[in-house]
Amino acid sequence: MARTATRAVRTTTTGGGRRRGSAVRRRGGTRGRASANAADETTARADAAAAVRDLAKTQLNGADGPRVFTVPAVPVAGAPVRVFADVERADALRSASERTLVGGYNQWKIGSFEKAMERVEGTSWVYVDVDVDERAYEMSFVFRGDGQAYEKDEGQDFVAAVDFGPTPEEFVEILKVVAMEDAARADANAIVDAEMAFARDGVAGVGATFEKYGRLICKTSTGDAGVAGSTERVFWNKALNPIGGDDAEKLIMHVGFNGWMRGVEEKLTLVRATGETRDENNDWWVADVPIRPSASVLDFVISDEDEMAWDNNENADYRLAMDVTSDESTWEVLRELTFEEKRAEALRALVEEKQRVARRAEEAAAAKAKAIEVGLKQQAFIIHTEPKVPEVGKPLKVFYNKNNTHLNWSEEIYLTGGFNRWAHETAVAPMKMTPPTEGEEFFSATVPSVPSDAWMVDFVFSSGVGEGAQYDNKGGRDYHIPTRGSAAKKPPLHVVHVAVEMAPIAKVGGLADVVTAIGRAIQDNGHLVEVILPKYQFFNNSVLLGAREYETHFDWAGTTIRVEKCKVEGLQCFFIEPQNGMFQTDSVYGRNDDAERFNFFCNAALEFLLRTARQPDILHCHDWSSAEVARAYWDHYHHNGLTKPKVAFTIHNMNYGQAKLGEAVHHSQMTTTVSPSYAGEVSGSPVIGGNGGKFTGIRNGIDPDIWDPETDAFVPVKYNAENAEKGKAAARAELRSRLGMTGWDDKPIVGVVSRLTAQKGVHLIKHAAHHTISRGGQFVLLGSAPDPKIQGDFNGLANQLAGDNSGFFFAFDEPLSHLMYAGCDIILVPSMFEPCGLTQMISMRYGAVPVVRATGGLRDTVFDVDNEKERAAWEIAGSTDWEKDGDMTNGFSFEGTDEGSLNYALDRCLDAFYNDRVWFRSLQKRCMLQDWSWNKPALEYEELYFKMLGQ
Ligand code: ADP
Repeated sequence: MARTATRAVRTTTTGGGRRRGSAVRRRGGTRGRASANAADETTARADAAAAVRDLAKTQLNGADGPRVFTVPAVPVAGAPVRVFADVERADALRSASERTLVGGYNQWKIGSFEKAMERVEGTSWVYVDVDVDERAYEMSFVFRGDGQAYEKDEGQDFVAAVDFGPTPEEFVEILKVVAMEDAARADANAIVDAEMAFARDGVAGVGATFEKYGRLICKTSTGDAGVAGSTERVFWNKALNPIGGDDAEKLIMHVGFNGWMRGVEEKLTLVRATGETRDENNDWWVADVPIRPSASVLDFVISDEDEMAWDNNENADYRLAMDVTSDESTWEVLRELTFEEKRAEALRALVEEKQRVARRAEEAAAAKAKAIEVGLKQQAFIIHTEPKVPEVGKPLKVFYNKNNTHLNWSEEIYLTGGFNRWAHETAVAPMKMTPPTEGEEFFSATVPSVPSDAWMVDFVFSSGVGEGAQYDNKGGRDYHIPTRGSAAKKPPLHVVHVAVEMAPIAKVGGLADVVTAIGRAIQDNGHLVEVILPKYQFFNNSVLLGAREYETHFDWAGTTIRVEKCKVEGLQCFFIEPQNGMFQTDSVYGRNDDAERFNFFCNAALEFLLRTARQPDILHCHDWSSAEVARAYWDHYHHNGLTKPKVAFTIHNMNYGQAKLGEAVHHSQMTTTVSPSYAGEVSGSPVIGGNGGKFTGIRNGIDPDIWDPETDAFVPVKYNAENAEKGKAAARAELRSRLGMTGWDDKPIVGVVSRLTAQKGVHLIKHAAHHTISRGGQFVLLGSAPDPKIQGDFNGLANQLAGDNSGFFFAFDEPLSHLMYAGCDIILVPSMFEPCGLTQMISMRYGAVPVVRATGGLRDTVFDVDNEKERAAWEIAGSTDWEKDGDMTNGFSFEGTDEGSLNYALDRCLDAFYNDRVWFRSLQKRCMLQDWSWNKPALEYEELYFKMLGQ
């Protein structure tokens, strides 16, 4: 059955008079449940049933009326509806001998049916009664003649909205529950089938008692097999067994059944039995064990009270046979019970997931608000206002501290102000500020009133008025403070990214992630963001890309450019497909004409904007591959119809296509790179040349929903900052076993997740491996080297260090990387240079403490616990008093490129792990709670866009 777009069936307004009363209202587009109460629904259902009996005869007469209608006109969920069709006016039905109604609900997702229709005596009409599914919000149907031709509504299915059912959103939830129940049923069946097989075939080697070394070790109180479904007193002989020590008072019995088929089900206290023989071969302990009704075998292992020491009978576990029913009907009952158990478990999980999503949304909103607050706090060092958040219709007192600016030499300070990023007609003419009184630092002045439609207040400060005056305009960005209570909203920006990579559909490296992330973050702040990409051939088979729709086509540059569109991660994307086959490629890069192809793409993207009369505020291009946009726009388009945009250019990697980079820097109105420190480090590069004034660094962020140990599918026991210890312990165990390292010991694990290239400090990575092990730790590495010589070195290292304390995995393995971050205590990033770096931010989110070389983005995100308390407090919280506001340092760093420098940081971190575990745990928690998302960077990009527009 073809699913077609929703169209309302053209039904009549007729129906049972009673039903048309106030009880049933068509809710149209907004199928809110709010107005429907239970009584309404019951009445509606009864009325609908009555209406069907009470046929609207007049309908059946006129040939002018609709050829299809339902009674009631708006079907009601859970009530009958009668569907009529006029065979004379239906080609597929007219001469058919059998006519059926084929229907389904909610875009055919549930309840499909086919029912024979009957003739209304003496008329050309046929009808059929249908019980509308209770879960329906909409009913689709077509008619069929003699099982063949379909009668539709001008090529589409007939669609009738259904009243008093769930909303489409509620229906999605219902489907989730249905799927959950199906899964619970399948789960329960599989378990019970296996248990029945156990019961039927017996379990080899398991008896009613268990003996070892000629001694009886386990038994029930009777010495016979225990009975499934009852509580059995189970005895266990501790004689000569060191577990718990000689003076143990309690042990723990971890209990499961049927070969742990349902995992550990009980944790019972085991105490010394009284009244049993006690000699060198007998030391009996006892627990009362509720035996699952379907149990053929009781499984258990023993631990001490702290669950530190374990006895699992040398990996064989302790096992006793149980008597279980062979009666079929009992098994059927057990099957139902198991289903109920599984269902309850799944429901609980569903509810917990809902709560987690709500909590996460709250956290995300709080983090976003905090990012704004920190920005204002940092600014407050220079300027703040009273009230702190300006209120419309009220005066605003402004305080300015020249001592923290380059106007510190000036005796006088003038304030010039405006509103709505200077776009408001009202302005605050330069006014002389009152100097601070003795002992104070802030000049002050009062703006008489903030206009009612001002959403932003803007300031610059100067040493005087008119010629010769010097200005503090915050490095060209001006000072801005959002207001409260404005009648107007900030106007959205229109930003168009032109890029050749975008995550997840066309991902080669970090550039792809950044394009998606900046786009989403800016869009989340209320702006319109679009992305233009080449249409690579590999998109055709991509499971990551939804259905594309045709957008437009045009002839240009000797070929036809076809443009399709699709949303990716919530962003509107346009795909440029020249019909000359330029992007008939299976990868983003790798043809020897990449430069030429991408230049063509950039021009075609501009042509697309021109032809579709788009006038974005900002064109944002990235790296050498879309650098061409900057030049081509100013050379060919700006004077030719595409007049409005300004160009932002982001350099993710300085090392490729430098000529192209330099050209775009020159033509762009603003160039950024991916961290402030890296911007400082490369500002002398010929690529930037004399354009340092428009070059800034904005750090990248990570997506906290993708990197989230609480939901990460690759983390064995999910965790957050509150229960990290448990989650990380489980991840450690799994990581060790994956990398072939055994042992339950408590050694620190130091990890590296990295491409192995000179940039990443390979000599320091190698040294750290040796050093970690020499200090009693374990070293793990996930990475691979494109350079065979480097790879060879690492293979040698892996062989040299082979053993229980190291694990090397030479591959790109996304799932394993997640387990690395979760399982490691420490993540090492000793890069020689690092534009931004993501691994240190990801490791913090997973509670692995970063040890890094202080370069580029690593310097901007990792603050040394011993040396950088002030810098951390300022950067992370806008605080100038860490003692008051709290320590925000989050790792260990070093400056040099030699082994001694690395040792300086790594040793301090290992010492902390060994000597002060409580503090180390608190540091891990602090790392996890810090916000390295895009919240703050997005605000900076936004600020930059406005600055480019001269606002
Ligand atoms: P770069 O982009 O220079 O390689 P970044 O730190 O910016 O370095 O980003 C590296 C990203 O690649 C991180 O998400 C990291 O987890 C991932 N990564 C690096 N090596 C591997 C690997 N061998 N397997 C899986 N993921 C890796």
